[in-house]
Amino acid sequence: MADEAKLQIAIIGAGIAGLGAAIALKRHPAIDVQIYEKAPELREIGASIALGPNGMRTLERLGVENALDDEIAFRNKSKYPMIYRHWKTNEIISTDSHVGHVKDRHLTARFYRAHLQEALAKHVDPTRIHFSKAFESVAFDSAIQKLRIAFTDKTTATADIILGADGIHSAVRTFFVPTSSTAWTGWVAFRSVFPSSHVAHIQDLPDEATHFWGPDRTFFVSRLGRDLFTVVGSYQADPAAPDAPYKDSTWNSDSDVDVLREFYKDWSPLVRRIVDAVPSTRVYPNAAAHPLETWVLGDGRVTLAGDAAHAHGGAFAAGGSLALDDAWAFASAILHVFPADAAASASGKPSDAEIRRALRIYERTRKPHTDRVMSVVHQTNKSKVARYSRAAEPETDEQLRARIKNRVDPSWIHEHDVQAAFAQAVADEVKAGIGAVDRVSVGEQARL
Ligand SMILES: Cc1cc2nc3c(=O)[nH]c(=O)nc-3n(C[C@H](O)[C@H](O)[C@H](O)COP(=O)(O)OP(=O)(O)OC[C@H]3O[C@@H](n4cnc5c(N)ncnc54)[C@H](O)[C@@H]3O)c2cc1C
Repeated sequence: MADEAKLQIAIIGAGIAGLGAAIALKRHPAIDVQIYEKAPELREIGASIALGPNGMRTLERLGVENALDDEIAFRNKSKYPMIYRHWKTNEIISTDSHVGHVKDRHLTARFYRAHLQEALAKHVDPTRIHFSKAFESVAFDSAIQKLRIAFTDKTTATADIILGADGIHSAVRTFFVPTSSTAWTGWVAFRSVFPSSHVAHIQDLPDEATHFWGPDRTFFVSRLGRDLFTVVGSYQADPAAPDAPYKDSTWNSDSDVDVLREFYKDWSPLVRRIVDAVPSTRVYPNAAAHPLETWVLGDGRVTLAGDAAHAHGGAFAAGGSLALDDAWAFASAILHVFPADAAASASGKPSDAEIRRALRIYERTRKPHTDRVMSVVHQTNKSKVARYSRAAEPETDEQLRARIKNRVDPSWIHEHDVQAAFAQAVADEVKAGIGAVDRVSVGEQARL
């Protein structure tokens, strides 16, 4: 049950961002965190998810050491985050590299998403997670000077601050910014996760996370923790084309492995042998939105994290790490205005102005970075669609090889230093003369 004497933070969504934020705040004696999750339980849905060095460092900073364990995190032995091969010849054409100094335990890792979520959930008091609670709306209740959240089951809860961590189709985001809904990008992925015994017989099976690139589609394979294996086949269509395949398909719906086999029938024998061994597959049409103008919502008491804040559609496999860094930055900003020491807790909860300041620092820390990610994602999608639309003139092999070599270098995303960005955001606030805010009365401001 929520403790109303404390600073009440309601987190909407028990995904990667929501659980990460709850962990980062859990040791504060005067903060009460409650998580409201739409699903009836943490179910094993989804496929593989990658974390770059940024996400791995943040997991360690949060004390989620169990997620760094080789038992659930698969890292390439070569230390290259990704290896790119030719669709027909299997030749290695290029590799991604870590740019800064990256400790072995922070090397890019691939997880079965359910393992990562389970590892995070182990650090959260289960009584704080309330299932079957789908956010519907929120209003300021002036009688109690708190936000009152309404769920679709007609129940309500109160909070001083809301963190909307409710994923790509965030109801919190669309409640405050109704025009922020996502659109299909034309990119469709077929994802499968299965025991590696299915592919153990395949000679020359890549032992590293590997992306095969072909003229109009790609094929990704990797080991995952607990002896699982993943395959992701993806292709780009023109989302504006009325006959675009899978235009109306639902995310995470059952698909037919024969479709996958047909897709790769002209690819190298190695790829075909892997595809032949895939037991089942699911289809994931990809959606994205545009950056929001601000993350400080609801009169400075509501903000967003993870896909809810920046629905970038999973490009660069960056969503998990971005979500963890958001969670860490959000908690750091709250702890900055409301430190966990006894004196701060004793002097009472932070004022409205202090809360707003925390959310501004959080926004300053994260939004410039995620806006840049989203801008690159939209540019890349645009050029993929343009290439698809020119399909009448097929790409030559030389052009394909050049495209693989000249792809966007994602190291600035995967090695982003959220701690440095947070320190800079705090310094910028001080420089702008808005660092020191007197505690002001709660009733002083305009309400939602
Ligand atoms: C079930 C599931 C499977 C996924 N599988 C993959 C995958 O295989 N590969 C991959 O790269 N990414 C996957 N993703 C997305 C990936 O987890 C995110 O891109 C990334 O980790 C960012 O995390 P997030 O916490 O922002 O969002 P998410 O991980 O999407 O978590 C959002 C949470 O909010 C909950 N929620 C949604 N709406 C409401 C609401 N109205 N009220 C309360 N709670 C709500 C959701 O049930 C979910 O638990 C999956 C997401 C989900 C929800």
